[in-house]
Amino acid sequence: MTIAKNGVSYYSFSIFDNQPVRALFTTRNGGASHGCFESLNFGFSSGDDPDCVRQNYERLAECLGTNVTHLVTSAQTHTNHVLVVDERHAGMGVTRPKDFSDIDALITATPGLGIVTAHADCTPVQFFDPVHRVIACAHSGWMGTLENISAAVISTMTARFQTDPSDLLIAIGPALCQDCFEVDEDVAFRFFDADPSYRRFHYTRRISNPAGDAVTKYYLDLKRIISLELTNAGVLLEHVEVSELCTKCHPDLFFSHRNMGVKRGVMASAMILL
Ligand SMILES: [Zn+2]
Repeated sequence: MTIAKNGVSYYSFSIFDNQPVRALFTTRNGGASHGCFESLNFGFSSGDDPDCVRQNYERLAECLGTNVTHLVTSAQTHTNHVLVVDERHAGMGVTRPKDFSDIDALITATPGLGIVTAHADCTPVQFFDPVHRVIACAHSGWMGTLENISAAVISTMTARFQTDPSDLLIAIGPALCQDCFEVDEDVAFRFFDADPSYRRFHYTRRISNPAGDAVTKYYLDLKRIISLELTNAGVLLEHVEVSELCTKCHPDLFFSHRNMGVKRGVMASAMILL
């Protein structure tokens, strides 16, 4: 973990060391927000003081070596929709409104433009094509994972920038661990129906529900499912770095939807091409 001069604490991934890119995943510490948003919250829409959120974006921009007018944020609705952004999108979601909606991953080849996705348990995936100098940030929650947003990012990078998946360097950041992604049979079987090989990334447990009945709960390892989606798309396994950190297991470090419900902040997964 790095603590920046301005107090922001964040994780970065060694897969991007010595590459012309800055990539980070923030913790909840080092920001200006208070109460349930304490303190480094990047969400404008959950009731936090917008002046505090703007200050948090200023601190994030400083960590990326840019200005808030050169950031662009996603418009997340748990889809697998991706958008290629450039200088025309600079500032959208931070200093001016977005002109797009339903976008869970951003891709850019524009140096100096910081791309940002928001997270509070859902898995962040960061992509870098060092040959064509293209970056991407994806919000791969369980629904986005089921819809394979990682493959959607890679196919768009290939179509627009001639990316060869075997060149890609990828970081899968802090998100729910397998023990913390507990779901009922219906959600588990949506995964198994999508790809039977996902079965090897689950276990079950019999627990008592609040009424005292024994029920079967399913536990899926979303980070390993995403890794498989990446390698199925042509990414080399040795080019994928996976954070072991769980957002629910570390309430001192992270906002977590499963810990805190909707009254909470969100962390930022952010990248910029140098
Ligand atoms: Zn956990």
